[in-house]
Amino acid sequence: MYLISGCLLGHNCKYNGGNNFNQEVVDFCKSHQYCIVCPEGVSGLPTPRPPAEYVGGRILDKEGVDVTEAFERGAALSVERAFREADKRGEDIEGAILKANSPSCGSGQIYDGTFSGRLVQGDGCLTTKLKERGIKVISEKEINNGKF
Ligand code: SF4
Repeated sequence: MYLISGCLLGHNCKYNGGNNFNQEVVDFCKSHQYCIVCPEGVSGLPTPRPPAEYVGGRILDKEGVDVTEAFERGAALSVERAFREADKRGEDIEGAILKANSPSCGSGQIYDGTFSGRLVQGDGCLTTKLKERGIKVISEKEINNGKF
């Protein structure tokens, strides 16, 4: 079973109320078992909500509000639910395809905290928690590079 960011499948859970629909991810899901995740969606934060980025180890929204706790809670809850779902199905979690650059879902690169689109090395908080559990995470940009 693979974990997939809901916004990549067209769910309107993105901060601005839209989504990040990606046809390659949809095609991947046609031939693989999957489970949708959206840590910000289960964090208790509203949608739409201000964009947020990592700033010096904390996560701040564009208005300067520290949303670290909500993001961490959403990520922890998402991991817990994913493992429970895998247990229920009797499957392993084989990997995750999560939205690139997000402070929750990004893998390898995330926005740099200036809200200017610039990137720095790093993982989002969900990605960090999944990697700690030994789950391989890639972004939608890597799906055709044969990573899975
Ligand atoms: S990037 Fe992650 S947290 Fe943000 S909307 Fe998509 S699934 Fe939800």
